[in-house]
Amino acid sequence: MSLYVHIPFCVSKCRYCDFNSYALREQDIGRHVDALLKEAESRIIELNPQTVFLGGGTPSILSPKQLKHLLDGLDDICGFRSSAVEVTMEANPESLDDATAAAATQGGVDRISIGFQSLQADVLRAYDRVHSPEDSIRAFRAARNAGVKRINVDLIFAYPGQNPKQWYQDLARAHELEPEHLSCYELAYEPGTALTRLKDVGRWQAEDPDVCFDLFMNTRALNEAAGFSAYEVSAFAKPGEQSLHNLAYWRNLDYVGIGAGAAGWHEGVRRQNLARPENYEAAVFSGQDPVHESEQSSQETILFDALMMGLRLPKEGVLLTRLKRISGLDISQVHGELLKDLQKENLIEFLCDASGRAQSLRATERGFLLLDDILQRFLPDSPMLSV
Ligand code: SF4
Repeated sequence: MSLYVHIPFCVSKCRYCDFNSYALREQDIGRHVDALLKEAESRIIELNPQTVFLGGGTPSILSPKQLKHLLDGLDDICGFRSSAVEVTMEANPESLDDATAAAATQGGVDRISIGFQSLQADVLRAYDRVHSPEDSIRAFRAARNAGVKRINVDLIFAYPGQNPKQWYQDLARAHELEPEHLSCYELAYEPGTALTRLKDVGRWQAEDPDVCFDLFMNTRALNEAAGFSAYEVSAFAKPGEQSLHNLAYWRNLDYVGIGAGAAGWHEGVRRQNLARPENYEAAVFSGQDPVHESEQSSQETILFDALMMGLRLPKEGVLLTRLKRISGLDISQVHGELLKDLQKENLIEFLCDASGRAQSLRATERGFLLLDDILQRFLPDSPMLSV
């Protein structure tokens, strides 16, 4: 079991962001931390999670004292310091200083993921990011100075009209810092974001898809050349430095989510908390479960979700025994003809053991570039069932 803890506050809202995050105004972060611990007390006593992820929002927005209070409280409740093999905290450059990084490591954090997004000042401004490229470098050094051995850097490519050389410079500067992990995302236009609204009224032009494809392929090649192996669509790691927490998601393993809008997944039941921090706090402090919805997925949906996540892993793909155990379905019986077609089209392949028995299913190199098309063909008809 993995544990996700959500901090929903940020200094300001980035234009492209569709996460459950809110610009910090009058909200009381201390009260919110107390709400998190209260929910934890009611849901994760002695959970002993394998991995922990403090995400957001911006967890580094907590003061060192608040961070210590949160981490000490979580450990008292669920014992993560003795059980977890990885404890990650997300951070943004404007709020990750020496004191915050030290409080994080003293509290049990051993991996920090820093949102650089770009090392170009004009691009950061266009995204409404509140930090400079220099802040990112400082934040990286603060994490290292505090003894963090595993650092991830988040970067976004496909800023429209950007000379590709500037993106490759960003990548080279990130390599020079020697992080253990890189996440390189294509700029996305999610429904409801400020960026999508600008695009819809013609005030922002998305990058040409062919240019995006070239950037994606070149990013993979440059990262591989620098020793970062692609183990997921957007994730690159030095040997042995993959994010174990994110791998748990992609492998469809169970996890508990604590906090406003946090999701969880356990034995086919998907659960999501109330999204707005004030509603979440009100529910928790009045002794109610802050759940927004809880749904038992149909077998077909579990099968599809597991494929959707697992096919993102280019090397390992989806383990067939696990697929059958969690969905109760044999994929070769449900999708036999489709699997044959996809194999003939060189889009998927089975990995077999020494006796020739299929162990896992993965996308081929060609299929990896056409994942959305492949998944469309697996789409189930059956809806989620509410319980
Ligand atoms: S800092 Fe991250 S979570 Fe916060 S608004 Fe920006 S992208 Fe969203």
